[in-house]
Amino acid sequence: MRMSTLFVRTLREDPSDAEVPSHRLLVRAGYIRRAAPGIYTWLPLGLKVLAKVERVIREEMDAIGAQEVSFPALLPREPYEATNRWTEYGDGIFRLKDRKDADYLLGPTHEEMFTLLVKDMYSSYKDLPLSLYQVQTKYRDEARPRAGLLRGREFIMKDSYSFDIDDAGLEASYQAHRDAYVRIFDRLGFDYVIVKATAGAMGGSKSEEFLANAAVGEDTYVRCTKCDYAANVEAVEVRAPAPVSYDGVPAAHAEDTPDTPTIETLVDHLNAAFPREDRPWAAGDTLKNVVVVLKHPDGTREPLAIGLPGDREVDQKRLEGQLEPIEVEAMGEAEFARHPALVKGYIGPAALGEEGASGIRYLLDPRVAEGTRWVTGADEAGRHVIDLVAGRDFTGDGTIEAAEVRDGDACPNCDDGTLESARGIEMGHVFQLGRKYAEALDLKVLDENGKLVTVTMGSYGVGVSRAVAAIAEDTLDEIGLCWPREIAPADVHVVAAGKDQAVFDAAEALVAELLSAGVDVIYDDRAGKISPGVKFKDAELLGVPTIVTVGRGVADGVIEVKDRRTGEKQELALTGAADAIRTIVGL
Ligand code: ATP
Ligand code: MG
Repeated sequence: MRMSTLFVRTLREDPSDAEVPSHRLLVRAGYIRRAAPGIYTWLPLGLKVLAKVERVIREEMDAIGAQEVSFPALLPREPYEATNRWTEYGDGIFRLKDRKDADYLLGPTHEEMFTLLVKDMYSSYKDLPLSLYQVQTKYRDEARPRAGLLRGREFIMKDSYSFDIDDAGLEASYQAHRDAYVRIFDRLGFDYVIVKATAGAMGGSKSEEFLANAAVGEDTYVRCTKCDYAANVEAVEVRAPAPVSYDGVPAAHAEDTPDTPTIETLVDHLNAAFPREDRPWAAGDTLKNVVVVLKHPDGTREPLAIGLPGDREVDQKRLEGQLEPIEVEAMGEAEFARHPALVKGYIGPAALGEEGASGIRYLLDPRVAEGTRWVTGADEAGRHVIDLVAGRDFTGDGTIEAAEVRDGDACPNCDDGTLESARGIEMGHVFQLGRKYAEALDLKVLDENGKLVTVTMGSYGVGVSRAVAAIAEDTLDEIGLCWPREIAPADVHVVAAGKDQAVFDAAEALVAELLSAGVDVIYDDRAGKISPGVKFKDAELLGVPTIVTVGRGVADGVIEVKDRRTGEKQELALTGAADAIRTIVGL
């Protein structure tokens, strides 16, 4: 790769649409170019990095015996209809029609196609277990494409699927994939965590995510300060308090609570006018009832009420995580007005639930457990009900994990730990799908006794293009990209710094030697007006881990080698330099 001819134009200015450093630098250093929102073109340098990431992934997938196939991205509607995902994906997929008016989609993920392929080819338990994978372009019409490759609308995913005859087989396939992912992300040089995840739209049961630690990440996860519990906040299951006795709690009574527009003023008023016998009222003793609208994939809208302690907000991502593929919206004024039983600011359990005055489905936070005592709206302006006991005075239609998770919350897994949160980028996801897809598409094989049994499946994804951006994000510094060796676009970046022909001759000879020694080189051979300063800046921006300067020192038989990450420099004798460099780059 000669800089004089390499298809690259480095930019000094940040692209105006780039929100995160990796996106800015990948564009500025000439790795990718935007084609449309969330859709990118790979330039030669970008493709090199991408190919190296793919190689690591393929090696580790092959090592667990998974076999590579490649599906089309353009897929027929029918299989996705059979699993209902044609509808469930809502606005999230690209749909199109052919000339005969038949429906197609651009694949967002391929569970259906893999299931059908195996059904087509296999029929016996003797054929299993089986793991198949592909590295392929996926399409999702993301609501908020963001941060360049991190959330694209066209992106590259490695997806694999395992097929087993029974649960023990699935467990083993899942574990093999999980182990392979650990090796992949270790090799790619990520700082990552493995967290418990919700299964989301995929259905199924056990599920974990691999998150790259990154402040720019869209996922929030929590970790216990004492035990090894780690979970995406979407998957945190609050431990419900054990049922408490409400003997001696007075009967519920509605009271005037004038001038209490906020929970704080309400709590002050309660402590002044209706003090508790055991301790003061606190914000967490108020029961807040929030009404939202569920937007089903088929477009229908359904109100839902959520009852939670007044000191917590509803976390929309957690709520949507529970309800996927349903989307959640705030209830507008007009929609609210259609439910006369709801009194803004004073909504109480009496108005809610399938038996309640509004008939709106009412789900409770697990903290609103049997026997807990609350203050809540009396369904009349300016009034609250006091000493309302869950289980005695009201019940919900079920529970839901929708309340925000906060730093310092009790760990759901151990007795004395608390949770602390951090941000991450989802790099990989392993799920036990179970029999959902096999049932929907009728994938059965004959077992040892000649009986037809439904196959159980796992689904495992790695964001390949996302990994390029996430690694860039994790390793870059103020002056540019700074690739880990395993995926850098080249091993060394040789800069010919000077005007003398002797410099160019020496650089040229060194590059030839490096190439024949199997070292990948970017060679800045640009002559003419390009100053050494510009070349160094470009080398730093491009981020190859070792930068070799062939300059004035050539007259004395020396060149300089710099470590891009640490900035450490060393001089090398020109004679024998290729061997020394080969050792430095670890070949
Ligand atoms: P997210 O929660 O970030 O939207 P997801 O859970 O929908 O991701 P999966 O269906 O689990 O994603 O896909 C497997 C992997 O594909 C993810 O772990 C992620 O690394 C990658 N991925 C998903 N969506 C995108 C996207 N829009 N752009 C780039 N990579 C993506
Ligand atoms: Mg996922």
